[in-house]
Amino acid sequence: MRDAFPALHQTAYDEPLVYLDNAATTQKPKAVLDRLERYYARENSNVHRGVHKLSQEATDAFEDARSAVARLINAPSSDQVIFTRGCTDSLNVIAHTFARPRLGPDDTVVVTHMEHHSNIVPWQMACEATGATLKVWPIHDDGTLDMEAGMRLIEEEPFLLAIGHVSNALGTIHPVKSIIETAHRHGVPVVVDGAQSMAHLPVDVQALDADFYVFSGHKMFGPTGIGVLYGKYDLLDSLPPYQGGGDMIDEVSFDGTTYADLPHRLEAGTPHIAGVIGLGAAAEFIEQLDHEAVQAHEDDVLQYAHEQLSEIDGLRLIGTAPHKTSVCSFVFDDIHPYDAGTILDRLGIAVRTGHHCTQPLMERLDLPGTIRASFALYNTREDVDRLVQGLGRVQTMFG
Ligand code: PMP
Repeated sequence: MRDAFPALHQTAYDEPLVYLDNAATTQKPKAVLDRLERYYARENSNVHRGVHKLSQEATDAFEDARSAVARLINAPSSDQVIFTRGCTDSLNVIAHTFARPRLGPDDTVVVTHMEHHSNIVPWQMACEATGATLKVWPIHDDGTLDMEAGMRLIEEEPFLLAIGHVSNALGTIHPVKSIIETAHRHGVPVVVDGAQSMAHLPVDVQALDADFYVFSGHKMFGPTGIGVLYGKYDLLDSLPPYQGGGDMIDEVSFDGTTYADLPHRLEAGTPHIAGVIGLGAAAEFIEQLDHEAVQAHEDDVLQYAHEQLSEIDGLRLIGTAPHKTSVCSFVFDDIHPYDAGTILDRLGIAVRTGHHCTQPLMERLDLPGTIRASFALYNTREDVDRLVQGLGRVQTMFG
């Protein structure tokens, strides 16, 4: 698997690179890089409107990519796969087109205390604009959701629940299927932020019964600047246009404009064609994986990391939920995360330090930030060993 990812085979400061920042963005397999090159070298053309060969090829590749993404998440139809700039963009589209026009001062929106800023701020802004209230689903210290408190919030029948599938800061896998089931019993639609699940878990939007499911290409081995908004057909079809422009119209006149059907109604302007085609290649790359083997390997590396790190004196693991994937967050009693990250970098080990765009979570855990090692299917126990050795150096220098 490592051979498929050219970026892994380089040195950083003369050390072989150990890339442990996959929750921020994953590396790209050769299949995706080759596909991008082929598009720009051979097929580059604008989509949907051209009569010429290149435009038709680009359009076919673009729509094939939509089908590949729909297959990957088991969407009932590729019309329910809307291409956006990324997970953040998708959440903002929902906040603007679904939430804002319907929210009022008596409504509430519920988010968990563990959400990424992208799954907090758009809802907070929508609430501020409409007089609605944002409520927070509390969590336990180990990084699991307080289910009893959450169920009480759902019983109050909020307008919407917005929840991550997997926490980017702690790696907790939330039981979204059963949460959605309960929410639906109370008539509450659920937006699932799938930014951190796509590279690690099989995602079946129909089995989950998610009302909306959103994710970014770059966290699932695809390009940056491209993402997906999946929604149930009737919900998507009820949304007003988000942006006006080319491609999203049926007919335009100065007397009034009619709009295109899904998915184009929500995709104004020339799209990120290469991004979409690259994302399609990433979806196909994931589709052909042996998912059981990948999950077993990722679980093994994560467990090994937990074991090894918990033996280090003065190191505390943050986020020890029983159901986790691929994220190991930790702090030292007496070393600032930024200092540790800087030394690790010089040893060729890429980790992320800080609040991970989860400031409310950090405040809840009373931490300035953490050091986060996040794994992907190409990471190994040897990578963990290098991390542990590196942390030994960090302790020698700062401890
Ligand atoms: N949600 C989660 C859980 C994330 O980890 C991220 C990215 N760190 C986002 C949302 C936002 O994704 P993007 O920046 O690609 O829009």
